[in-house]
Amino acid sequence: MPTESSAPVARPPAAAEPGLNRPLAELPAACEVLVVGAGPAGSAAARVLAQAGLDVVLVDQHAFPRDKVCGDGLIPDAHRALERLGLLDEVMAQAHAVDHMTAVAPRGGRVDVPGRLAVLPRRILDLILCRAAVEAGARLHAPLRFVAPLEEAGPHGPVVVGARLSAGGQERSLRARHVVLATGAVPQALRAAGMCLRRAPSGVALRGYLRHRTLAAPPSGLVVVWHRRLPNGYGWIFPCGDGLYNIGVGVEHRHARRDDAAADAPDGMGDVNLRAMLEDFGRIHPLAGTLLRDGAWESPLKGAPLRCSLSGARYARPGLLVAGEALGSTYALTGEGIGKALETGVLAADRLIEARRAGWDEATLVARHAEAIAALQPRHDVYERACIVNRRPWLADLVVWSARRSPRRIRRLSGILDETDLPSELVSWRSWLRLLVRRD
Ligand SMILES: Cc1cc2nc3c(=O)[nH]c(=O)nc-3n(C[C@H](O)[C@H](O)[C@H](O)COP(=O)(O)OP(=O)(O)OC[C@H]3O[C@@H](n4cnc5c(N)ncnc54)[C@H](O)[C@@H]3O)c2cc1C
Repeated sequence: MPTESSAPVARPPAAAEPGLNRPLAELPAACEVLVVGAGPAGSAAARVLAQAGLDVVLVDQHAFPRDKVCGDGLIPDAHRALERLGLLDEVMAQAHAVDHMTAVAPRGGRVDVPGRLAVLPRRILDLILCRAAVEAGARLHAPLRFVAPLEEAGPHGPVVVGARLSAGGQERSLRARHVVLATGAVPQALRAAGMCLRRAPSGVALRGYLRHRTLAAPPSGLVVVWHRRLPNGYGWIFPCGDGLYNIGVGVEHRHARRDDAAADAPDGMGDVNLRAMLEDFGRIHPLAGTLLRDGAWESPLKGAPLRCSLSGARYARPGLLVAGEALGSTYALTGEGIGKALETGVLAADRLIEARRAGWDEATLVARHAEAIAALQPRHDVYERACIVNRRPWLADLVVWSARRSPRRIRRLSGILDETDLPSELVSWRSWLRLLVRRD
C-alpha cells in the first residue's frame, strides 16, 4: 500500500498555469465580491457573479491547477449544474462518461443502476471551473490564504467588509462589499470567520489513482461496494479512462450528528484506519484486489474530511455568505458533493445579484440566502437517514435483491441517482418490509 511519501507519483504536479494565478502584489485594494476558495462552489459563484457584471476577486490557498482528494464521480446533479454554467461540453470532452453505477451488496449481489455519469480527476475539473470564472471576468489570486474577515460595526452588530489574506509570510487586506466563503470541508476558514458550529467532519475518505490496462473484465460503470468489513462506509472504484482508476474507501462519522458537538471539540475520528479499510476492500472485492495487487500507483493515497447534511455551519452573517461543502452541502450516504457545491455556489451568487438589483439590506440578504439553503434541507435529511445502509450493510443486500426482481425498483434507484426520487425506501422498517414482500 503506498503512502504519501513512498508511492511513486507518475504524474508530476503540474506547474501553475501561466497567466491564471495572479500574485499577492497585484491584489486590488477593494472589490465588490470576494470569493474565497476556487473549488466547484467558489468558481461557480465567481463565474455567475462575473457574468452578471460584478467585480469579483477569487482567491485560493493553492495555485491552479491543484489536486483535490475526491472520488471524481460526476453524478446527474453535477451534469445539470455544469449545463447551467455553460461548461458541460467542455467538461465532458475530457471526462470518462459511463451510463450506470454498479451497486455491490455484502453477499455479492449486484445491480446496475442507469444514470448520466462521468469521472474526471479534480485536478482537471477544478482547473476548467476556475478558468471559466476568470474568462467571465473574475480575477483569480493564488496562492492566497484567507486569514480572517475584516469587520466593521453595523446597525445590528459587526458586518464583514472584506478579508485579511496572506501569502509567503506577507499579509494584505482586501475590502469587499460581500464575501462568499467556499472553503470546503476543512473547517479552519469557517472557524476564523465565526461560522463554524461543529469542527468534526461528517466523515472521512481516502483515495488513490491506480493504472491497470490489462484487466480481464474492466468495469464499465462506477462501482460502489458495501460490506460488513467496510463498517459504516463503503468502497468505490471509479474508472477515469485509459486504464486509470480512482479507488477509495469512505466512512461516516458516527459521533458527529447534526450540530450537537461543540464547535471546537476534537474531531473524534482518530480511531478510523482508512488504509486498513482499503486493504480489506482488496480482500473482499475481487476487482479491488486485482487493482491493489497488480495496478501501478499513479499518486499517493490521500485522505480528506467530508461535511454533509447542511449541518455544522451557519449559512450567512451580514456581509458574508457560505457556499459548498463549508455549508455541509455534500450528500450523506453517497458522499457526492460536486454537484451540490456547484448548486450552492450558484445559489449564493444568485442571491447577491438579486440583492444588488433589489437593493436589499444585509439582514434581508442573510435571510434569503438562509431560506434558499434551508429549502434543500428535507432532501438532505432523507439522505442522512438513509445512511443506515452504511451501518447495516445487510440492507444493501435487501435493496439489491429487491431491485433485481423488479425493473420498477431499478428505475427508482436510477431516480434517486438523478434526484427525481428520494432514497425514502431506505429509511423505515415499513419500507424495508415492503421491499421484502412486494414484487412491483
Ligand atoms: C475522498 C473523497 C471522495 C469524494 N468523492 C466524490 C465523488 O466521487 N463525487 C462527488 O460529487 N463528490 C465527492 N466528494 C465530495 C467532494 O469532493 C466535495 O463535495 C466538493 O469538493 C466540495 O466542493 P467545494 O467547492 O465546496 O469545496 P472544495 O472542493 O474543497 O474547494 C475548497 C477550496 O477552498 C480552498 N481553501 C480552503 N481553505 C482556504 C483558505 N483559508 N484560504 C483560501 N482558500 C482556501 C481550498 O484550497 C479549495 O480549493 C468526495 C470527497 C472526498 C473527501
